[in-house]
Amino acid sequence: MSLPSSPVRDEIRAIAPYNAGLTIEEVRRRYAVTEIAKLGSNENPLGPAPALRHLFSDIGELARLYPDPEGRALRVRLALDFAVSADRVVLGNGSEDLIAVLCRTILRPGDVMATLYPSFPLHEDYAVLMGGRVERVAVTADLDVDMEALIAAARRKPRLLMLSNPMNPVGAWLTSSRLAALLSAIDPETVLVVDEAYAEYADGADCPSAVALLEGSDLSWAVLRTFSKAYGLAGLRIGYGIVSDAALTGFLDRSRTPFNTNAIAQAAALVALEDRDHLRRSVELAVGERERLRAALAVLGFRIAPSLGNFLFFGGEEESGALAERLLAKGVIVKPWKQPGFERFLRVSIGAPRENDQFLGALKAVTGR
Ligand code: PMP
Repeated sequence: MSLPSSPVRDEIRAIAPYNAGLTIEEVRRRYAVTEIAKLGSNENPLGPAPALRHLFSDIGELARLYPDPEGRALRVRLALDFAVSADRVVLGNGSEDLIAVLCRTILRPGDVMATLYPSFPLHEDYAVLMGGRVERVAVTADLDVDMEALIAAARRKPRLLMLSNPMNPVGAWLTSSRLAALLSAIDPETVLVVDEAYAEYADGADCPSAVALLEGSDLSWAVLRTFSKAYGLAGLRIGYGIVSDAALTGFLDRSRTPFNTNAIAQAAALVALEDRDHLRRSVELAVGERERLRAALAVLGFRIAPSLGNFLFFGGEEESGALAERLLAKGVIVKPWKQPGFERFLRVSIGAPRENDQFLGALKAVTGR
């Protein structure tokens, strides 16, 4: 008697497992190296603001009770920063949770989700999971956003247009004039999601948040942010969205799980927002080290994309999986890109100077450049 095929939806079979890379412990165990540079996940080498240590020494009540399902205190605080009402702020278990919640809320089977390519894989994956069809707008030959193609895609009225700015994994970005041109091409039937996970690193550059430009437009939209990157709280899982209107917040609230953000993460995010100096130090370190690494990679002859993020996307002749494997053996974790057309590219996160030096030394050693 043959077994029935497992009852799993085709949409789940179609998506690749998320590649979170190896943990530090796993690299130590497999490769017997002690000094590790973890540069595959765009984390903050400085970690969270120092004030958070007090929070963790007094964690009992936070852990015992259910969190506020509304995350009221944090939403009120974030609303102040963005000059919106608190009923236009949604919280997520990381911003990836909000990407899933938005896809679940908006996409019907067969709907088009247009996005930039190469993409943050979860943008595509959650759309596919809902039965959506992904339309990719590939970067130009010089690894910049293809504005003409993006505007043409917007004019085709996808149900969802979701893109990151600055763009992961490439690092390219939409200037204010590009953003304005894009917004004027979007139909009100399209929901726009701008994922600004790396916006803090773009401070001072012509890469504005979409929130101000979208205010007053007749579009439905969400702008996503995270505490995982510049705030150094990746392990606590908390992100947020500013959305166009309170009605949309209400629908997203129905679509998320009631306690999607935990009490410790909510409290930590509030503390993190108060330490502007730590944020500034984190951004300055990333920007300074990014430009140092860019110059060093250029000397070694790699192609490097322009980047306003805390990472660089670079490529050479070698297939990226093989190169990443050889770097792992030297204790360096980077992210090899696998999407078609970009198999010779890797994304390296900007770490502490010691980690960046380890990365450069290992890269020279394994490529002989
Ligand atoms: N969006 C983008 C563009 C990202 O690069 C990431 C993390 N790699 C996320 C969202 C998810 O971040 P988190 O869930 O940690 O907030």
